[in-house]
Amino acid sequence: MFKTILVPIDMAHVAEGKVNIDIAVKQAEAGAKIILLNVVEDIPTWAAVELPANLLETSLQTARHELQAIANASDMPMEAEVRAGHSYKTILDVADEKQADLIIIASHRPGLQDYFLGSTAAKVVRHAKCSVLVIR
Ligand code: ADP
Repeated sequence: MFKTILVPIDMAHVAEGKVNIDIAVKQAEAGAKIILLNVVEDIPTWAAVELPANLLETSLQTARHELQAIANASDMPMEAEVRAGHSYKTILDVADEKQADLIIIASHRPGLQDYFLGSTAAKVVRHAKCSVLVIR
């Protein structure tokens, strides 16, 4: 059983994220904290000049709204964190910052079953300081 569980959620694949949330609830000890995390990828400077100035802020606000709704739908209280950054680095940074003792992550995005581990999942497994549960 774990006391601080980080569940990174790709907002393009919320159904898989909800499966991982259910697993987190089962892995949580009494009084545990579950933190849902979505990382909105930073827009590279070379691309940003062609895009609306507030695109990143709008994306962050939309993700915050959607992730909070997912957190509110659970019977167990959950934190919803949305950060801008690089997905795997930000997942590892938030795990350290929140002193997570477990990260629950999907092995890859749906439809890519040929890959044993997706790029984000592979880097999280390799570099995390805490336990990682990979859901296939
Ligand atoms: P693929 O390489 O097949 O796209 P990934 O390794 O990127 O697969 O995704 C696997 C899992 O990593 C996702 O289901 C999710 O748990 C996590 N993840 C990927 N991208 C993000 C993101 N931007 N924010 C939060 N979690 C993410």
